[in-house]
Amino acid sequence: MSSDVLPTSRAEWDEPADVTLRSVTFVSLSLLPRAPLFEISEMSGRGRARGARGTNPPAARATARAGSSPAARAKSPKKPPGSQQGAESRRGSSSRRRGRGKGCERPDGIATSVQPEVSSEPTSNQASSAGNRERAQRAQKESDPNKVLPSTLEKLKIKKASRSESTSIVNKVVADIKKFMKENSKHFKETETLRTGSAYENVKISKPDEFDVMFTIPMKRVRVEQFGNTGAFCSVHPERTDHPFVKDGTLLADDMLRDFREQVKLAVKDMQNVSVERKKKGCPAVTLGIKADTGFPISLDIVLGLEVHSSWPTFTEGGFKIEKWLGTKVKKEFKFKPFYLVPKYKGKGNEEKEGIRKKDVWRISFSHVEKGILKNHGQAKTCCEKSGVQCCRKACLKLLKHLLHVLKEKYPEELSGFSSYMAKTALLHACSTRVEDSNWANSNLSSCFQMLLDDFEKHLRSGSLPNFFIPSDNLLGCGHSQKSRELLADLIEKERNNGFPIFTS
Ligand SMILES: [Zn+2]
Repeated sequence: MSSDVLPTSRAEWDEPADVTLRSVTFVSLSLLPRAPLFEISEMSGRGRARGARGTNPPAARATARAGSSPAARAKSPKKPPGSQQGAESRRGSSSRRRGRGKGCERPDGIATSVQPEVSSEPTSNQASSAGNRERAQRAQKESDPNKVLPSTLEKLKIKKASRSESTSIVNKVVADIKKFMKENSKHFKETETLRTGSAYENVKISKPDEFDVMFTIPMKRVRVEQFGNTGAFCSVHPERTDHPFVKDGTLLADDMLRDFREQVKLAVKDMQNVSVERKKKGCPAVTLGIKADTGFPISLDIVLGLEVHSSWPTFTEGGFKIEKWLGTKVKKEFKFKPFYLVPKYKGKGNEEKEGIRKKDVWRISFSHVEKGILKNHGQAKTCCEKSGVQCCRKACLKLLKHLLHVLKEKYPEELSGFSSYMAKTALLHACSTRVEDSNWANSNLSSCFQMLLDDFEKHLRSGSLPNFFIPSDNLLGCGHSQKSRELLADLIEKERNNGFPIFTS
C-alpha cells in the first residue's frame, strides 16, 4: 500500500500481521469439509445529532474564542514550545493564533468566527493592507481545519472507475489461482471466496493499488494455545495427527506456507504481467506484482490463513468491548463466527520455545470482525446510509491514516515502526468509548478528529495501545522506543495545533 496510509506492502506484516486496511479478499480453501461462508450481520441502533465537543453552547464557544475561559483553555490542544514557530511567522498575530487553535476544536460554523480576528490584525501600511488582508485570509483558510479536513478527504477519495478497474484485474488473478489450486494442488483443493478489508470497510484511500487476498483453510477440532504469555501468537494442535503438516501434534506454519507458496508460484507461472516477489521473513503472504493498464502497478498479497471454528482463545477475554457501542447481541454474533490464523512470527524463526520453533507459530486475525464493525459502525442501523444520519467515524480514520502516512514519508526511518493498523485500533477504542452516533456527527468532523488525535497522542506518550481484541497485546510494546513515540506524538501535536499544514503543503 505504498499509496495508502499503510506502510508499503509487506512492511505491514511487521505489524499486527493479518490485519490490514488493504483491500482484502478472503478465499477459503479446504483440506477438510468446506465451511459455510460467514456473513456480516446488520446492526441496529439510533442516531442523533449531538457532538462531543460540539455540544458547547454558543456562549461557551464565544469565551473559548476570546481565550478567556479556563475551561476552554483546558480543552485547547497543548502547544509545545517551538511547535508554532513556522506557522507563527506566517501568521504573525498571536490573537489569530489563539482563534485558530480553538477553531480546531469546534464544530462546523464556528470557523467563520475566526475570520474577524484575521481582519483585526494590525497593519502598519495602509497601502498594502488590502493585499496583506487577502494573503492573511487565504492563509487562514488554508489552515482552518473545518476547510482543510473536508478538502483533504475529497482528495483521498478513490475514483469509482479506478477502483472497479483494479478490482476486476485482481479478481481475475485470484480466480485463476483458485482454479489452479482446485485442479492441481494436493492440499489446497476446496476453495471459497470471502471478502473483507479496506475496500469494503470504505477506508482505503488514494489509489486502489494494493490488495490482500486470504486463502483460508477450515480447521475443525483443533486446539489453539497462546505462544508466550502475551501477544497474539499461537501454536496450533489439530486432533488429526495424519494432517500433512503436523509434526509431534503441532501444525507447522513454516512447512505449510512453503508448500502454499510453491502452489501460488505454479499457478501464476504462465500468467502474463504477474510476477512473484521474493519471500520476506515472517511474512504470511506471497506477494505478487501485477502490471496493469491502470497507470500504476498493483501489488497483491496472497495470504495463507486457517479458519478456526471454535470459541475465541482465552487471551481475547477482556477485549473487543463493543457492548455499549454496538450491543451484546452483536458481540455474541461476532464471537460465534470463526477466527483466522496466519503464519506470522517475529524475531528469529529457529528460536524454540517449549519445543516449537517461532516460524511454526501463527498469529490470530480478526480482520473479518473489523470489517464487520467498520461497515456497520453506528448505533443506528441507518448510520451513514443515504436516508440516515451521516457520521464521521470513517472520515476520522481516513484522516488519521493519511496523517500517519505523510509523516512517515517525511520521517521514514524514525517512524518505520508505526502502521495504519495502530490508527484503526485507536479508532476502535475511541468508538467503544464514545459510543453514541451523535459523538461522531459529520458536522463535527474537525472536533472529532481532534479528539481521535488526542487519544492517539496519549497512546503514543504512554506507550500503551492494546490490540482491540487482545488486551495483553500492546501494539506499542517492544520495538517502539520512547524517542520514536514522542517524536510521532510531537509531530501530530504540531500539525493539529497549526491547522494541518502537512495536508495543504
Ligand atoms: Zn456512520
